[in-house]
Amino acid sequence: MNTITHALTGWCLAESIPGLSRRGKALVTLASVAPDLDALGFIAEMTTQHFRNPLFWWTDYHHILCHNLPFALAIGVASALIADGRRLLVGTLAVVAVHVHILEDLAGSRGPDGYQWPIAYLYPMANGPQLVWSGQWYFNGWPNVAITIVLLAVVAVLAWRRGYSLVGLVSPRSDQAFVRTLRLRFGEPR
Ligand SMILES: [Zn+2]
Repeated sequence: MNTITHALTGWCLAESIPGLSRRGKALVTLASVAPDLDALGFIAEMTTQHFRNPLFWWTDYHHILCHNLPFALAIGVASALIADGRRLLVGTLAVVAVHVHILEDLAGSRGPDGYQWPIAYLYPMANGPQLVWSGQWYFNGWPNVAITIVLLAVVAVLAWRRGYSLVGLVSPRSDQAFVRTLRLRFGEPR
């Protein structure tokens, strides 16, 4: 699944837990996209594709380097350390967020060529399990679009009711404009 869908999922997860601070919610949302750090190899692979010794960092490491249990635990510990309160809860939610990301990829990340991008869950353990799901749909298939639309709707309803959204993690001013637009359109929440 794409990074925006993962971020929306992480935000909805964070918003479903009462009492998390703004930083706690940001950490859980970041954890939900963190596994895709191993997709950055795409840039190196595209840049060097016509070189004599091209880099295959996308082909070799995507869904491997950061889509695994040790990475999830590392993100959980880092999130707990950076959190400004309720550290155990934030750390646990960060681990859960990475796992939800992995499940979303298992469900909907089949490449256009049919390749399933197996998840090396116990990486760097050699010969560890390679997770795939036979029912996996295509990365650009309609289920991913449908899930993204549903998540956007949930985020919008929460923003309308609560007065903030994950847009505020990037730009508080844009978030205020977003909430204002929603409330002008749908009225003030009761
Ligand atoms: Zn991923």
